[in-house]
Amino acid sequence: MNPYWLEDEIPPRPSPRHEGRVDVAIVGAGITGCSAALRLAQAGLRVRVYDRRGVAEGASGRNGGFALRGGASRYDVARDTYGRAQARDLWHWTEGALDRMETLAGDALRRPGSLRLAADEEEREQIRAEYEAMREDGIEATWLDELPEPFAVRFHGAIEHAGDGSIQPARFVRRLAAQAAEAGAEIREHERVDDVEALDADRVVVATDGYGHGLVPELSDAIWPTRGQVVVSEPLDRVLYDKPHYARQGFDYWQQLPDRRVVLGGFRDVSILDELTDVEETTPTIQDSLERFLGELIGERPRISHRWAGIFGLTQDMLPLVGEVPGREGVWVAAGYSGHGNVLGFACGELVAGAILGETSPQLELFDPARFGAEDRNLV
Ligand SMILES: Cc1cc2nc3c(=O)[nH]c(=O)nc-3n(C[C@H](O)[C@H](O)[C@H](O)COP(=O)(O)OP(=O)(O)OC[C@H]3O[C@@H](n4cnc5c(N)ncnc54)[C@H](O)[C@@H]3O)c2cc1C
Repeated sequence: MNPYWLEDEIPPRPSPRHEGRVDVAIVGAGITGCSAALRLAQAGLRVRVYDRRGVAEGASGRNGGFALRGGASRYDVARDTYGRAQARDLWHWTEGALDRMETLAGDALRRPGSLRLAADEEEREQIRAEYEAMREDGIEATWLDELPEPFAVRFHGAIEHAGDGSIQPARFVRRLAAQAAEAGAEIREHERVDDVEALDADRVVVATDGYGHGLVPELSDAIWPTRGQVVVSEPLDRVLYDKPHYARQGFDYWQQLPDRRVVLGGFRDVSILDELTDVEETTPTIQDSLERFLGELIGERPRISHRWAGIFGLTQDMLPLVGEVPGREGVWVAAGYSGHGNVLGFACGELVAGAILGETSPQLELFDPARFGAEDRNLV
């Protein structure tokens, strides 16, 4: 079935064309590619974007619609892994990106906040540690002990993140593409790139997240294609969830939309190895788990209107790769958001564009593609 988000009407956009060589070619017209294109075109560069499908038809139109600040790891884990200042700066940096998204989004983004729930006592301990770490570092968050139990599902505490958002991701990215085109970027849909060296461009940005496996062999072992699956219910007759909710380390995530449909994704851990794939199709095992859980969440047998699968790029340390690909002069990457790319993808599109324009940023050090040593990479 078609992803619900992609059924939205496509906004008109101009179709600028560049003759001959461009300053930057971008592979991928998702949130990353469109964000980079907008920034580069606004800076006066000649930009051409290629996508083998249409704008937003990769993960950017197939996700759960959560627009969360931060990285893909829990904050306390990020702090232990990347360093305190780095984690704190990363969280604040994504808050800034979310604010900028809001200025571009119109009705494609709402900011009702989000709830990170503990599914059991063990997870409660974990997210309590996350909450304490956030408080210590001056990152706004609220701890909730008492939670309503709408139906069969019981939770053991939660963190409320007040500024988080709910996004209609395809609407947002199509608007971003229109803004990039208005700024002069050429967007070529349904054109597949097989060889980045063959593109008539001074620099190439690979913005394919989980879909571009093999296009740049040096990235093959650093970004693993991973499948996520989603179901959407018919509109309910009441509002049960007023903001995006997620639990079990983010393995399960759901939100109710303004039309009262519930969008639920996750349960990847039910067959986690099978989901390390770029085959974009749903499977009965995961769809059954999603349907069962949706029934518990809404208290009735769910009537499903949409189901789909999408592919995202997973990295070992859950951080994206942004920068020039080691050993590939002129080839840049922004990808690998580990299932957390709605805000990070927007921010990293801007970041890679800024790097091409000569800007520096602490995030470029944190996301340096060279952190995965050459011995770990598939240097074909
Ligand atoms: C089921 C699911 C649920 C998710 N839920 C959330 C969520 O709720 N919140 C969140 O923050 N993140 C979520 N994510 C992750 C998020 O969707 C992605 O990280 C983000 O959309 C990546 O954007 P992108 O532009 O980098 O890549 P994509 O949107 O995947 O775009 C890549 C584009 O590259 C194109 N492409 C690939 N190869 C080529 C080629 N050779 N030539 C030309 N074009 C090519 C593809 O067609 C595609 O359009 C989810 C992902 C999935 C799959």
